Order: sequence, then C-alpha cells, then structure tokens
Amino acid sequence: MSNDVRTAVVADDHAKPWETVRRGLLLLVSSPAGAGKTSLSRRLAADYSDLILSISATTRAPRPGEEEGREYYFKSRAAFEAMIAAGELFEWAEVNGNLYGTPRAPVVATMEAGKDVLFDIDWQGACQVAEKAPDDSVRVFVLPPSWSDLARRLHARAQDSTEIIDQRLALGKREIAHWGEYDYVIVNKDFDRAYADLIHIYRAERMKPGRNPWLPEFVQGLGEE
Ligand code: 5GP
Repeated sequence: MSNDVRTAVVADDHAKPWETVRRGLLLLVSSPAGAGKTSLSRRLAADYSDLILSISATTRAPRPGEEEGREYYFKSRAAFEAMIAAGELFEWAEVNGNLYGTPRAPVVATMEAGKDVLFDIDWQGACQVAEKAPDDSVRVFVLPPSWSDLARRLHARAQDSTEIIDQRLALGKREIAHWGEYDYVIVNKDFDRAYADLIHIYRAERMKPGRNPWLPEFVQGLGEE
C-alpha cells in the first residue's frame, strides 16, 4: 500500500486476536444519484461500529435538510482549492460542476485505529483511492433496477428542480458506464435485499487472510496445541 494511508494493527493482550488485530479496508460505494447508495452506505455505517463513514467536502450548496458535518463539509470554491493545495484531500473530483473530495486526516486516523472506512463517492474518486491503496480498496457499484425507476426516485425526492434532475440523470448514465471497474455490483431492486448483499460483501472482505495479520500466529498455535 502507498504511504497515503498507513494501516495499523491494533493489539490488545487481553482479547482474542480476531477481536482486535486486523487491517482496515476501504469500502468504496458508487452509483448514479437516486440508486440508493447513500441510504445503503449510511445504514451499513450505522450497523457496524468498525466501519466509519467518510464525510466529504464539497462546493455544492446544501440541500434542504442537509447539515454541515453530517452529509458534507460545505466549502467555498476558494476554501476547497486551498485544501487541494495544502494536500488535505485524499482524492477529489469535479462532479456536475461542483468539487467533491475526501479529507485525508480522518481516513488516516480511522485506518490507524484498525477500523474500516466507507466512502460514498463517484467513479473518479473510487478509481483514485483504488490506485493509491489497491490492496485495501473494495469497490461496490449500485445499479438501479431500471432507468424509469431511477428517474422516479429522483423526482420523488423533490429536492431538485426538473432541470437539475435531468442533469443528474445524464450524469448517472456516465457514472453507470464505469460499473465494470468495480469488484462487486448490486442491483437495488429491493432495499433489504440490496442491503443484505452489501453486508455479505463487507463481511466476506473482512475475512480475507491479508486483512487478518493475526492468522499465521494463530494457525501456528493450533499446530502446537
Ligand atoms: P450529491 O451532490 O448528490 O451529494 O453527490 C454527487 C456525486 O458526488 C455522488 O456520486 C457522490 O457519491 C459524489 N461524491 C460525494 N462525495 C465525494 C467525494 O468526496 N469524492 C468524490 N470523488 N465524489 C464524491
């Protein structure tokens, strides 16, 4: 892995190794707007305390109901560009005329604590993170069951004007074009089913030998019993 993110192994003498010693992963979830990625991601982060949702910075204006530090850190373009110049962003991209980026410090702190980071980011960001940390990245793409379903969901949200919704649909087509770059693809026809699929992916990835550095010693101990 690159120096961008250092992964720490957390050890606790009093606990069983599989409870505390492991290498965190970076779970990257992308989809066109309206396919359910944000609801799926937020639910997974709420249900798994070892998985910390990365809160992005953005230059886009807050939507009704969005709060500073909960959905995003809302920045002026100048403030965002200053973050880029200072190297404070782990990745960033322009999406539909706005800048979005992942603050580096919380990602590093979470990995150093031996926990996992969940990113709700577009294909450009997912690609950058996967290039920087190929061994630690797991990319998941969420597809809508149909195009009309996606349009219906965007209209039902009633957060944006028709013009903005049309832009988001056009952007969604371009996002979907990258589905083949992902490790896993979920079709979100039914939320509970899609959520169960996401849990399976996350849990299976956590069981990969490389993410559990305690295994060699554990297996050696088994042989010596
Ligand atoms: P929205 O404006 O609908 O909240 O997000 C627009 C798009 O930007 C979504 O695809 C979202 O996943 C993506 N996005 C949000 N945060 C980030 C980020 O930190 N980096 C990148 N590359 N994309 C992001």
